[in-house]
Amino acid sequence: MQTRFTAAQLEDSATRSSEQILRKCVHCGFCASTCPTYVLLGDELDSPRGRIYLIKEMLEAGRPATSEVVRHLDRCLSCLACMTACPSGVNYQHLIDHARTHIERTYRRPLGERVLRRLLKAVLPVPGRLRWALRAARWGRVAGPLAPRRVQALFELAARAGALQPASRLARPAAAAATAARAGRVLLLQGCVQSVLAPAAESAAVRLLERAGFEVEALEGCCGALVHHLGDADPALAQARALLARIEGALSAGELAAVIVTASGCGTQVKDYGFLFRDDPRWSACAARVSALTRDITEFLHEHAPPQPAAQTHAARGLTIAYHSACSMQHGQSLDRIPRELLARAGFDVHEVPEGHLCCGSAGTYNILQPQLASRLRARKLENLRRTRACVVAAGNVGCIVQLSGEEGLAVVHTAELLDWAAGGPEPAALGKRSPG
Ligand code: SF4
Ligand code: SF4
Repeated sequence: MQTRFTAAQLEDSATRSSEQILRKCVHCGFCASTCPTYVLLGDELDSPRGRIYLIKEMLEAGRPATSEVVRHLDRCLSCLACMTACPSGVNYQHLIDHARTHIERTYRRPLGERVLRRLLKAVLPVPGRLRWALRAARWGRVAGPLAPRRVQALFELAARAGALQPASRLARPAAAAATAARAGRVLLLQGCVQSVLAPAAESAAVRLLERAGFEVEALEGCCGALVHHLGDADPALAQARALLARIEGALSAGELAAVIVTASGCGTQVKDYGFLFRDDPRWSACAARVSALTRDITEFLHEHAPPQPAAQTHAARGLTIAYHSACSMQHGQSLDRIPRELLARAGFDVHEVPEGHLCCGSAGTYNILQPQLASRLRARKLENLRRTRACVVAAGNVGCIVQLSGEEGLAVVHTAELLDWAAGGPEPAALGKRSPG
């Protein structure tokens, strides 16, 4: 694709990067059929290629974003299915990130939306605030039918999150790290949302890693992904910098085998730190090192310690599960095969989900900000999951787990919990919700 940026525009690093990305697009349209919003809406402007044109024109003109551009770019899930499909290597992730930042800097959203976005940015990355907000939202459900659609979506999500399990604090892995450190030392990112909504995944990861002989240290803090996807670059980078500082401190205390992440949305973000901090003289080297060290829990287990089933007669043996491959896992980190292989090796009967490349509608805060499209994608995903006839769904991202939970007879469980159970850990609490048989 030809571009018309001026020399002055290309002095800006973000614009230079976007220009290189735009030049790779050959307009072939192979990406369209994999794009969930194009599949639902059939509008070229809601396809990756259409959005790439909108972004190109907006950035080249150097003008504030228009409401039309904002509408189509806001509908993008950042699911990155288009990147997997693209034969030309177009890095849509970095392009849409740049576009979202441009929008937030140049476009004034309606008051209600500004308030909601500000609230999400203030609450979600802080576990203490999120716990209080969930309690308040559950009470707020009483007034649900009178509330605007986006607020109703928030209440629905809070109810699903509450049904997952009581919000409880994770027992800090560092406290249990007295086991022999034969294999090495790892940091386990506690994150923000997952530490509140699905702490059992972290506990399962600690047991899997300690069984494999690793010393596990808790890494607290938000990676910045949620705020980053809302286009607010500076606070997102500040959150990432704070996390980098903690990792740098841990690195100064000795070698690390990995920084392990159990929420694939966060993993995709931390693996991109090298790019995000490429122009920061203080943090660029550290960020590149951290990105290279970062592994999803399944990726790390596959490399270092594939779990073995505790016993051939274990209840997990032969249990039919559907593996839901989160977009951030399959498209963001190109990790699709490994989690399935680990589950199969642990004794589960893993079934393919039809249309597995399509997003479930979670996508960070998308299910709150675009509730209609998100609920259509959720319904479509649930229909595809039912076709597998499995009563248990495995997923490696907390957003998907919340999005797909709450269906009668269907248990949605983190992959790490299932692997841990098969290796002798406790049965995941959510399995009590599956249909008998
Ligand atoms: S990131 Fe997902 S929703 Fe956005 S254009 Fe690509 S495929 Fe479509
Ligand atoms: S598949 Fe890649 S090259 Fe083709 S239109 Fe989509 S982004 Fe452009």
